[in-house]
Amino acid sequence: MKDRFLRWIVFLVSLSCLRAGLLTFLPAGVVYLSSCQTAEITGRKQFILLSEQDELDMGLEAYRQALGEAKISPNPALQEKVAAVGKKIAEATGHSEYDWKFTVIDDDKTVNAWCLPGGKVAVYTGILKLTEEDDALLATVMGHEVAHATLHHGAERISQELLITLGATGLLIALQNKKQETVEIVLGAFGVGAQLFAVLPFSRTQESEADRVGLIYMAKAGYHPSKALEFWKKMAALSEGGISLEFLSTHPSHETRIEDLLEWQGEAMGYYKKN
Ligand SMILES: [Zn+2]
Repeated sequence: MKDRFLRWIVFLVSLSCLRAGLLTFLPAGVVYLSSCQTAEITGRKQFILLSEQDELDMGLEAYRQALGEAKISPNPALQEKVAAVGKKIAEATGHSEYDWKFTVIDDDKTVNAWCLPGGKVAVYTGILKLTEEDDALLATVMGHEVAHATLHHGAERISQELLITLGATGLLIALQNKKQETVEIVLGAFGVGAQLFAVLPFSRTQESEADRVGLIYMAKAGYHPSKALEFWKKMAALSEGGISLEFLSTHPSHETRIEDLLEWQGEAMGYYKKN
């Protein structure tokens, strides 16, 4: 009698464990599967909740905000140089559907550059001082930043944040409605706006992926991929000199980056088209 009773208890406990497990893992699985995408070139699986249109709209809004607060460089030669290199990189991506824009921001203290979804690029005069003697160095910066946009890294980070905030179950309930409308409601409810693209740092994985794909873009655009090593060595020397670089905030260590870039030279050379 006692044995039978114990067996019932074990059965009921395992049943409730199974149910709890399903409640935890099933929504996570469904949410993951329904939002899984594949990054171009690298084939990495990505969890992205935003539709491409959401991403483009938010990118455009973030671009307007950023430029509204910035001082645009009045130097036409600089603007032309950045636009010329940028156009070659843009062509190399094959994303002719993007409305590409290139802007130089007049700020010598900021050693930075970025590209928002849809091909909205900004380069600060602070980083142009490092690249002024060779366009291939500028192409390294542009290739890397543009890769963050074509690989949807911003949308991926926002999706991860939403999952953390809402949890898998909350997201599953939200996604049972129409995806497009739901994501907009979710984004609105959490005050997740365009500025998040600027605030959320990229992950190490994304930084490495942008390095690898950026190298391919610069090679396709006619810039020798070995120039990327020269650029990142310059950046390493600058940061070792005690200058804090926003551009490097979540980037891999200098040694890892240089080793990786060396390893990827062969792959990039397969795309190299001499200018
Ligand atoms: Zn980056």
